[in-house]
Amino acid sequence: MKILITGSNRGIGRALAEMALKNGHEVIITARKPEDEQATLNDLEHLSPGNVHFQQLDVSNADSIRNAASSLSQKFDSIDVLVNNAGIISDSKGTDLVNAKEVERIMQTNFYGPLQNSQALLPILRKSKSAKIINVSSGMGALDGMGGGYAAYRLSKTALNGLTAVMAADLSGEGIKVNAVCPGWVHTDMGGKDAPRTPEQGAASIYYLIENENVVSGKFY
Ligand code: NAP
Repeated sequence: MKILITGSNRGIGRALAEMALKNGHEVIITARKPEDEQATLNDLEHLSPGNVHFQQLDVSNADSIRNAASSLSQKFDSIDVLVNNAGIISDSKGTDLVNAKEVERIMQTNFYGPLQNSQALLPILRKSKSAKIINVSSGMGALDGMGGGYAAYRLSKTALNGLTAVMAADLSGEGIKVNAVCPGWVHTDMGGKDAPRTPEQGAASIYYLIENENVVSGKFY
C-alpha cells in the first residue's frame, strides 16, 4: 500500500512510518518544515530503500495543502491510505476560561487541517481500489466519559470525531473507509515523559486500521 502520514517527522507519525516501511509498504513522509526532509529521509531510507518519499505539508495552511495535493497527483497514480496524524495540544484552560482565539488556533491544525487535507487528496485516494482515511484523534475528544480542562484540544478532537462519522457516510457509496483512532497516552513531545505507551505502541493502534480490512467505517477506535 502507499500510505501518506501527516506530521511524520517525529512522534507517533514517525513511528508509524517506520512500522509501515518495515512491513513492506511505501510511505510518503510529510513535514511542515522543509528542513526536516533530508534528516528524516536519511534516517528512514535504509529501512526500505526506494520506498520512502517526502512531501512538504503544513496542514494549517490551505496553500500548502493545495500545493502538496497538486505535487502528489503528478508524482503518484494513487494513494491508498491517508493518515491525518499531525496535531497540536492547546493550553490547559477549560471552557470557563479558554480564549476563542486559542480554540481557533487549535481547530486550524486539528480539525480544518484533516478536513481540507482529506478533501484535497480525495481525487488521488479515489484512484485506489480500497482507500482509507484515518484520523488520529484522542479519548479527550470522546463525548462518552468527557472530562474538563484542555477545552480547545478536546473540542478539536470532538469535531474531528464528528468529521470522521460524516465523511464516512458521505463516502460510503465509494467504498472509502473513514475512521478515527486514539493511540492512547503516548510518550512523545505532546504526551510527555509520564505517558505509559511508547510511540511504537501508539503507532500500532493506527497500523491496525491500515492492515485490517474488516474494520467498520465511521467509527472511533
Ligand atoms: P508530537 O510528538 O507533538 O508530534 C506532532 C507532529 O505533528 C510533529 O511531526 C509536528 O511537526 C506535526 N505538526 C504539528 N502541526 C503541524 C502542521 N500544522 N502541519 C504539519 N505537521 C504538523 O505529537 P504526537 O504525540 O506524535 O501526536 C500525534 C497525534 O496523536 C496528534 O494528532 C495527537 O493529537 C494525537 N494523540 C497523541 C497522544 C499522546 O499521548 N501523545 C494521545 C492522543 C492523541 P513539527 O515537528 O513541525 O512540529
